[in-house]
Amino acid sequence: MKYLGIEPKRPKVGVFDFTGCEGCELQLANKEETVPAFLQAIEVVDFREISSTSSDDYEVALIEGAITRDDEIRRLKEIRKHAKLLVALGSCACFGGVNRLKNGYDLDAVNQEVYGTEPKETLPTQAVKEVVSVDLEIPGCPVDKAEVERIVQHLIWDVPYQFPAYPVCFECKQRYTTCVFELGQLCLGPIARGGCHAPCPAGGSGCWGCRGPAADPNLEEFLQIAKDRGFKKREIKERLSFYGGFEDMP
Ligand code: SF4
Ligand code: SF4
Ligand code: SF4
Repeated sequence: MKYLGIEPKRPKVGVFDFTGCEGCELQLANKEETVPAFLQAIEVVDFREISSTSSDDYEVALIEGAITRDDEIRRLKEIRKHAKLLVALGSCACFGGVNRLKNGYDLDAVNQEVYGTEPKETLPTQAVKEVVSVDLEIPGCPVDKAEVERIVQHLIWDVPYQFPAYPVCFECKQRYTTCVFELGQLCLGPIARGGCHAPCPAGGSGCWGCRGPAADPNLEEFLQIAKDRGFKKREIKERLSFYGGFEDMP
């Protein structure tokens, strides 16, 4: 396949799942109208959710899920050795995602409470970048397939991809959505990274920040707005910690 007389690269890609719901992988297999073009652009050599083929011969590794067990750490390090480019796919991989909530608990006590005398192996949740070096992070719970397709195009043509720097509010206003703060709900839209087209406020629910923080977010102003609207510190903290993307913020 050539475009304007130039043979594009067709990278060999492996898709690997760790601790997550596999929703991000499902996004890659979704959207039937673009699946054939997507599969023409890349060569999938390992993708358990859709194929029984398995291989260590890949240039790009897409990692879905957080890291929560010793065997996952070993497997991830092995994948890192094979991949030229390692991509964290989705909020679990980028920040730990909802799995990170368990880090606020005593894991031994919880294990005993739930599993009694047969505890399950579990470690505090880590994002992929806390275990190995990561070349690119694609946030979202789940990732946006159209965005993944754009990123793949950029990879193939060797052009850097710029994630939106603006917050969710920007796209929310473009959709003429009524602000959910006006409906008495909390929303992280003013400080969360846009690019998702603000589906949550459009559906009547505040943003939970699944794509992490926007560039240079004004956290102080956001906290003041939330406080002025009567939201308690604990409620705001719970919202900010839900996906783990705001952990590094002061
Ligand atoms: S980021 Fe969301 S959709 Fe993707 S694996 Fe984690 S929980 Fe599932
Ligand atoms: S609903 Fe949320 S994202 Fe939309 S304008 Fe209000 S604060 Fe911003
Ligand atoms: S509105 Fe917020 S929670 Fe919903 S998809 Fe966008 S970033 Fe994620």
